[in-house]
Amino acid sequence: MKIENLCVKRLIGDVSGATTRGHKIAIKGGYVYQTFQGGYTLTPLGWSVVRKIENIIRDEMNAIDGQELLLPVVCSADLWRETGRYDSMDNIAKFKGRSGADYVICPTHEEVITDYARSVLTSYRQLPFMLYQIQTKFRDELRVRAGLLRTREFIMKDAYSFHETQEDLDKYYKRCFDAYYKLFKRCGLKNFVDVLASSGDMGGKYTHEFQLITDMGEDTLYLCDCGFRANKEVVDVDNAVCPKCGKVLNRVRGIEIGQVFQLGKFYADSMHLTYTDANGDEKTPIMGCYGIGVTRIMAAILEESSDDKGPVWNMETAPFAVHVIGLNGKDTRVLELAQNIYDDLIANGIETVLDNRDVHAGEKFADADLISAPIRLIVSEKNLDKNVIEVKYRVNDFDTEKLPSCFDIKNCILDVKSTIEKLLHK
Ligand SMILES: [Zn+2]
Repeated sequence: MKIENLCVKRLIGDVSGATTRGHKIAIKGGYVYQTFQGGYTLTPLGWSVVRKIENIIRDEMNAIDGQELLLPVVCSADLWRETGRYDSMDNIAKFKGRSGADYVICPTHEEVITDYARSVLTSYRQLPFMLYQIQTKFRDELRVRAGLLRTREFIMKDAYSFHETQEDLDKYYKRCFDAYYKLFKRCGLKNFVDVLASSGDMGGKYTHEFQLITDMGEDTLYLCDCGFRANKEVVDVDNAVCPKCGKVLNRVRGIEIGQVFQLGKFYADSMHLTYTDANGDEKTPIMGCYGIGVTRIMAAILEESSDDKGPVWNMETAPFAVHVIGLNGKDTRVLELAQNIYDDLIANGIETVLDNRDVHAGEKFADADLISAPIRLIVSEKNLDKNVIEVKYRVNDFDTEKLPSCFDIKNCILDVKSTIEKLLHK
């Protein structure tokens, strides 16, 4: 991609109307555009980051035997009436079709997945299984906080597992837990924890939230040195002492990035989802459900890993792996070399952006900080005579001190490839 063709508006100077650092950077770098209050367009840059996050999630969900499917966004109200949630949930967007039928825009998909499962499940031999989707949700919230942390429309990964026994669900719950730690880390998030939480509208017994600890968070968390961690719905807030060891709890703020629930039999019971067990008896499966706010992860990375200049992605989430800058926009040798390196990188399947514009170096570097490719190659007259290209790094989960500060022009493509491998922790 040539930078002048990238259809994204980057801003210079301060951004008005943004409430958090991450939100400011997202607007300044042109990752999102607010289309309406609580609804954002993901620009080519933002969508690229989100798709990369989605693929990390897919990898880790497939690794724990998840099967991806896609459920409809809009659904008949009848399914929601089966569990009573059509009337009990207050943030469902409802509308009437022209025929007079009632519809909902799904804020979550327990009813829809349970309906699918009852069309498939007959025998205990099919259990356990886990189904997941990555899809848009809409929640008709009365208030939205400005910014990316609580939006009306968002992309979510929701997964649902079905089991014969509580022991089997417990075992799977633990596998999913571990997969979550792995995938958040792969996204470049650092200071996150799991905490006990209340299950709210979802039904079920107990639940854990995954929270990124940051002052920008809207959730209050209580942590103890002994390992106890919970959100404020669980803790007796009046005297915030640890229920495990009696010490005073530390209060911090967090952004919820994921949640895992044990749903029990609520959905299966109310929607008559059954199977035949080994003895030929009719049984109800036990369900678990596992959510991740996909667009919320991008917002969380921006809160945790940005600086005054822009975001700091890692190699797995950055929209481009390499940013090639021709530093003197008038020197044809510089321009030609930058163009050649760019062509070679593209031919090698490496996502690269090229900046050969005739603008000041300062503007080029400011844009490079906002696009934030982990590897920046700077082609300049000065280095051309030494047959090298200067390299700069910008990455949130790798100590780049030991990486080379220049590549030989001859070996440049090979050097880029091996550096990408290193930055991917391979
Ligand atoms: Zn304690």
